[in-house]
Amino acid sequence: MIISAMNSTIDTNLKSPNLPEDTLKKLAQDIKGWAHALGFQQTGITDCDLHAYEPDFLAWLAQGFQGDMAYMARHGTARTRPAELVPGTVRIISVRMDYLPPNSNAVAVLQDDQKAYISRYALGGDYHKFMRKRLEQLAQRIQACIGEFGYRAFVDSAPVLEKPLAEKAGLGWRGKHTLILNREAGSWFFLGELFTDVPLPIDPPTTTEHCGACVACINICPTRAIVAPYQLDARKCISYLTIEHPGSIPEAYRALMGNRIYGCDDCQLVCPWNRYAKASQEVQFHARHGLDRAELTDLFLWDEKTFLRNTEGSPIRRIGYERWLRNIAIALGNTPSSPAVLAALQSRCDDASALVREHVAWALQRHHAGAAQRADNIVKKLTKKLNSKHY
Ligand code: SF4
Repeated sequence: MIISAMNSTIDTNLKSPNLPEDTLKKLAQDIKGWAHALGFQQTGITDCDLHAYEPDFLAWLAQGFQGDMAYMARHGTARTRPAELVPGTVRIISVRMDYLPPNSNAVAVLQDDQKAYISRYALGGDYHKFMRKRLEQLAQRIQACIGEFGYRAFVDSAPVLEKPLAEKAGLGWRGKHTLILNREAGSWFFLGELFTDVPLPIDPPTTTEHCGACVACINICPTRAIVAPYQLDARKCISYLTIEHPGSIPEAYRALMGNRIYGCDDCQLVCPWNRYAKASQEVQFHARHGLDRAELTDLFLWDEKTFLRNTEGSPIRRIGYERWLRNIAIALGNTPSSPAVLAALQSRCDDASALVREHVAWALQRHHAGAAQRADNIVKKLTKKLNSKHY
C-alpha cells in the first residue's frame, strides 16, 4: 500500500535515565510482552544505522519511481538517518499488527466483475491513529517502569523508512514485491515504530530471504509495476494510481485496473507465504458497510453525503469523493455491458467534476465500442451463413 505522511505530536524533549545493562535487557523483554498484550503480533528492536539502505532509496528517488509522492523526496537524509529526524534517538522499536479481515473473500471478489475490489487493509477503520494510540500506551507502560524518557511514535509516517527498520529489527525480509514478509505471518500487516533514546539491546536483523526462485508477484502484477525484484515503480502501481494519483489516470492502465477501485493486493494474494497469514482479531480492521462485497453500480450511485458517512474513520475517505467516482467509473468501463451498468454511467455523464465526466466518457466509449464489435461479429456470422452452400 502507498500512504502519505502523518506527524506524531509526542514530546521528545525528555531524556531517558541511565540504566544498567541487565535492567535494559529485562526491559527489552518486558516491552515485547507489553506490546503483545497491546495487540502487536511481533516486536523487534534495532539501532539507527540505515546506511546500507540509503543508496537504494536514493536510486529509487533518482528514477522518479515515487511519482506524485513528492513527500518521499523531502526531508533530505532524515528518512535514512532516524537521529536526524528525532534528535537523541538511539533505538527504534518496530512493531507489526496483522490486519487481514476474516472471510474477506478477496479472490472471489476480484474475479467478480460486478463487484468492487478494495484493498483488504482499507475495508475497516483507519489504522494510523489506532496503532499510534497503542504505541503511546506502550510508551506509557515503559514510562511507568523506568520514569520519563524520550520517545516518538510513527505509523506509516514520513519520513521513516519503516520496511528497512522492520527488516533490521528482525520482523521479516523484504519480498520481491518490496513488502516485508514473515514466515509465520505472510505480509498482511501494518508496521509502526517507537523511536526512543533508551539504549535497549538490539535484536538480530533478518538476513535470510525466503523468496528463492519465486517470481509470482512480479508476474501477476497487472501493470508490471514491479520492474525488477525489490523495485517498485509506484507510477505504474494500481495502489498509487487509485489512491495517491490526483488527476486523470493514464489510459494505458485503465483496462488493467479491472474492478480494483481502491488499492490492489494481487502481489500479496499470489504470494505463497500468505498461506500462513492469520485473520485479524481487531474489530477495527473488520469490513464495514459491506465494502468487502459491494456492487460497483451501488457504490457509483452513492452521493457525496453517503460517501462521507460510509467512509467516516476509514482510510478510503482520504481520496475524496471525486477520485472515488473516477476509480469506479474505470471499473464500470471494464465490466460487461448491462442495462444497470450503462444506466449508472449515464447518470454521471453531466457530473459536476470534469475528472469524473472524462472517466465516465471513457467507460461509455468502451461499452459502445464493445457493442459495435459484437454487432459486427453477428453480421459477419450471418453473412458467412448466407454465403454457405446450405443457402
Ligand atoms: S510472491 Fe514469491 S517472489 Fe513475491 S514476495 Fe512472495 S515469495 Fe517473494
